[in-house]
Amino acid sequence: MTTLSAPLLPGSTLGVLGGGQLGRMFVHAAQAMGYFTAVLDADPTSPAGLVSHHHVQTGYEDAAGLAELARLADAVTTEFENVPATALAALGALRPVSPAAGAVAVAQDRAQEKAHFVRCGVACAPYAVIETAEQLAAVPADLLPGILKTARMGYDGKGQVRVKTAAELAAAWESVGRVACVLEKMLPLALECSVIVARGADGACVHLPVQRNLHRDGILAVTEVHAANLPDTVARQAIAGAISIATGLAYVGVLCVEFFVLQDGSLVVNEIAPRPHNSGHYSQNACDVSQFELQVRTMAGLPLTQPRQHSPAFMLNLLGDLWFAADGSQQTPPWAEVLALPGTHLHLYGKRDAKRGRKMGHLNITADSADAARATALKAAALLGIAPF
Ligand code: ATP
Ligand code: MG
Repeated sequence: MTTLSAPLLPGSTLGVLGGGQLGRMFVHAAQAMGYFTAVLDADPTSPAGLVSHHHVQTGYEDAAGLAELARLADAVTTEFENVPATALAALGALRPVSPAAGAVAVAQDRAQEKAHFVRCGVACAPYAVIETAEQLAAVPADLLPGILKTARMGYDGKGQVRVKTAAELAAAWESVGRVACVLEKMLPLALECSVIVARGADGACVHLPVQRNLHRDGILAVTEVHAANLPDTVARQAIAGAISIATGLAYVGVLCVEFFVLQDGSLVVNEIAPRPHNSGHYSQNACDVSQFELQVRTMAGLPLTQPRQHSPAFMLNLLGDLWFAADGSQQTPPWAEVLALPGTHLHLYGKRDAKRGRKMGHLNITADSADAARATALKAAALLGIAPF
């Protein structure tokens, strides 16, 4: 594995695997600091490829493409957690890669991820790994009702089936093609939250404040971040858990750790994402250092300073649904009216086709108090046709 011997200073080129919206916002942050950027993504119109200095248009397993990225870039990161571990390992032989292939491999596999939580002593939902018919038959009854989740490749609630009985569980495992899965006990959630941690190669860790998240249909809808979004004890516990998970992986880069707060007030970890996360987008407008600048700093070996949130914030996800009127015809969301509200910050990802459930952008709302930010967020939601929260 190649490591940095000195910080990569502005003027160097930073590479990213994946050209989605997270890559695009990484590119914007890197360019603002004077770096050149290189994106690897097969799609010629990928959100990040469109704004990067260099765009290598190949798949993640294309040896020539990976070699070209390594030639262009002085260090490489990822914005997509399902990049094949072989691609990260191949790049890691040529250039410093953060996060490293091993850490990404843990985040790619729910079974490995949960084993890591257990190793770190951070409580997660009771679960069983199901890879064989024998393991299916041996599932303890007290894990039901539960959620069967494919071990790999799930996102936005995809690859998940809610099951109440052993018969439903067996049918669900058939329906996902008998691939490796974990069955998680269905927990009584009071709320969901997440923490963004950035860890440098020297082990220094900084974090953003704890985010409170509202999901709808398995997709993040609203994030709110302000002093009173969560009880202090829960917030402190979440931060400590996130740091121990990152440290246990010897992680270098930005890591998001998602948690559940249960109805009895206890905290359990849900999953990790080895990259900036949708729930951290508010940091672009509400913190003095955004999650994307943290990604730049960690991969370039620059110092990490503890970010400071200067404004209470709400983030609304803008899904493709907003581009469709009630009668199904296409429409443009009322941007001018939304932007007339003070403290609204529009981020659109440059995706050409709006589809239902597709993340097209987000709206950050900042104000001088949480109540004012919520009031503006609710007004913006009403204008956009997002249900109140
Ligand atoms: P993403 O990658 O978009 O965060 P995902 O597809 O990886 O989502 P999870 O985070 O595992 O999915 O689950 C999606 C949502 O389903 C959670 O945010 C939570 O609302 C609900 N959920 C998941 N697991 C449980 C559980 N064990 N008990 C109760 N609710 C759960
Ligand atoms: Mg999740």
